[in-house]
Amino acid sequence: MSVLIVGSTALDSIKTPKAANPKLLGGSASHAAVAASFFTDVNLVGVVGEDFPKKYTALYHRHGLDLAGLQVKPGKTFHWSGEYEVNMNRRRTLATELGVFETFSPDLPEAYCATPFVLLANIAPALQSHVLDQMRRPRFIAADTMDLWLNIALKDLLRLIKRVDLFVLNDTEAHQLTEEDNVVAALPKLHKLGPKYVIIKKGEHGSILSGPNGLFVAPAFPLKKVVDPTGAGDSFVGGLMGYLAGSKGPVETNLRRAMIYGSVTASFCCEGFGLNCTTRTSRADIEKRVKQLLRMVAV
Ligand code: AMP
Repeated sequence: MSVLIVGSTALDSIKTPKAANPKLLGGSASHAAVAASFFTDVNLVGVVGEDFPKKYTALYHRHGLDLAGLQVKPGKTFHWSGEYEVNMNRRRTLATELGVFETFSPDLPEAYCATPFVLLANIAPALQSHVLDQMRRPRFIAADTMDLWLNIALKDLLRLIKRVDLFVLNDTEAHQLTEEDNVVAALPKLHKLGPKYVIIKKGEHGSILSGPNGLFVAPAFPLKKVVDPTGAGDSFVGGLMGYLAGSKGPVETNLRRAMIYGSVTASFCCEGFGLNCTTRTSRADIEKRVKQLLRMVAV
């Protein structure tokens, strides 16, 4: 089955203590869609400006993404720039230039409205809701977010969370939303907001799922060297949703394994700037790392 992914399609300028790279392909939807494309067909929804480099459109094509939902508008592509500290868990946003995102309305091509799996990757929650309004009875809906929307669009976000099956957020966001320091204590409070499943991401310390079958803890794949973690969260949720959509059987049965695939896909993202390493990865590389990770947690 296919997955529809909406989110930001961006140019990212990223500085780490070791290097700086301007205007790489980035954005929550780009990372999530490329990650999902290893497992299933992806319908991408986003907007870019006329300055969007052709080589990046070619990269989307190489990953087999359906681009009927990618609008090209007069103006500049969304540009985000960020800087990492020596401790790569710490990042500062230097600039966010919305460009064509300022007036973006994610209106879906008719053929997308029946896509069974929906990933609302990080963008304004009102836009995520606008996509859901157009969908016809999707089988499974996941939404991701970021601290910005907790700060400036909390009401919209709370309205959205009620409508999704799986809500994904990181530990800092979980703390901000529930006022609980402890992620295990935050989980029931997050379920009360509506979703049947909640995943809290903890960066290099993996992620935790809460659902009707209790808790599941997925480790991150241990890496010797992290080059650039930008988009790791998006790759995690993109890999997870792509794996779910591409697998037979009930979501409940596949969800734990999907988290392992999400962790592994995210690990490739961290090993290069932007999407550089992810795009050089193959399904066989992913399967190899999944086996390694499963061996590391087997008792
Ligand atoms: P992550 O590292 O998973 O938090 O995701 C980083 C990605 O989020 C980058 O590729 C950015 O282009 C994108 N991003 C940053 N700020 C925003 C925003 N306000 N809305 C949507 N996407 C954003």
